[in-house]
Amino acid sequence: MTRDWPENRHQPTVSHSSIAKFSSCDRAYALQYHHNIIPDVATRMEHKREARLLPLNCFPGSVFHETIQTALLAYQATGVFPPDLIAIARRVAGEYIEFSKQWVADVMAHPVLGGFHKYWIDHEFAQPIEAYYYDGDFQPGYRAQIKAKLERWFGRYTTLLPSLPFSSVDRSFWVFPKQVSKKAPWFVHKDEFAVYANFDFLTLQENKVTIYDWKTGRREKGEHSVAEQLTTYAAYAISKWGVKPEQIELYSVWVDDGSVQKVECDQAEIERAERRWSAVQLDWSERLKQVNGRAEKLYELFPMTQNSVTCTRCPFRSCPGRSRMPSGLVSANEMEFEDA
Ligand code: SF4
Repeated sequence: MTRDWPENRHQPTVSHSSIAKFSSCDRAYALQYHHNIIPDVATRMEHKREARLLPLNCFPGSVFHETIQTALLAYQATGVFPPDLIAIARRVAGEYIEFSKQWVADVMAHPVLGGFHKYWIDHEFAQPIEAYYYDGDFQPGYRAQIKAKLERWFGRYTTLLPSLPFSSVDRSFWVFPKQVSKKAPWFVHKDEFAVYANFDFLTLQENKVTIYDWKTGRREKGEHSVAEQLTTYAAYAISKWGVKPEQIELYSVWVDDGSVQKVECDQAEIERAERRWSAVQLDWSERLKQVNGRAEKLYELFPMTQNSVTCTRCPFRSCPGRSRMPSGLVSANEMEFEDA
């Protein structure tokens, strides 16, 4: 599929992350993906800035993903696996921090349109870390926490690597997302809307596709949603390369406990996922049509979560009502420094 998906604000696209965002809070989904329909410029731009922010608890995972992709791309190109992944991770983390400082300085220099052309659209990977936007820097001790996590994850990863099937597959069969799509891989669902499938890494051999997803969270909390996520990637592979479910293998690699989860690629699960995509896409389309350019209607039709803990992890601090959440949990941001 090569055509560009047409811009259509009443035809929202579907991805695992958009559904996950919606599941945690209707409003966070609307502010993340549909702030452009808010007519008031100052409110719209603030939500737009917040939508670009990398939540603090996601920062270590983003550094891990970027580092592992850098290392695998280097291995694919040269046949030599970089010996010091921690050094790469340190460089990647530094780039995120420098980018965040630059981005925030630019936004502050022009509070309404700041950084729009230079920094908001197409940076290769970086998002500004929310701590630099809201608090100026990390809280004391947080850098040490990140370092400890990355060392644990990469310590496990180097022992995991030889056990994964891709390590014995010719490197010419390795595929990274940017090699199949400029932004994120996607396909058109049979109900005629785009489904994004931003897999981490796969190998594409004749009559066999093996898809991997790196996970830095805790397995017991994420196993079920990972199965759904990988099912979406399987549907992408079927659409893109015409393979059958029995020709697809799906793995999530849990670097925190060093385990590998194999997910069955099952036609019934794919159909179940398709029914879910159709239902949420229809629901979102109907609600967005009713908003019809009215901010208060957007907030009404996409209500805030009643779960205060969800709010503590949310970058939308300008969300109307956030400050009214009970128990002061939202303003006391210590919880934002816990792991995802
Ligand atoms: S602050 Fe809370 S209610 Fe508002 S968008 Fe974020 S998670 Fe949802």
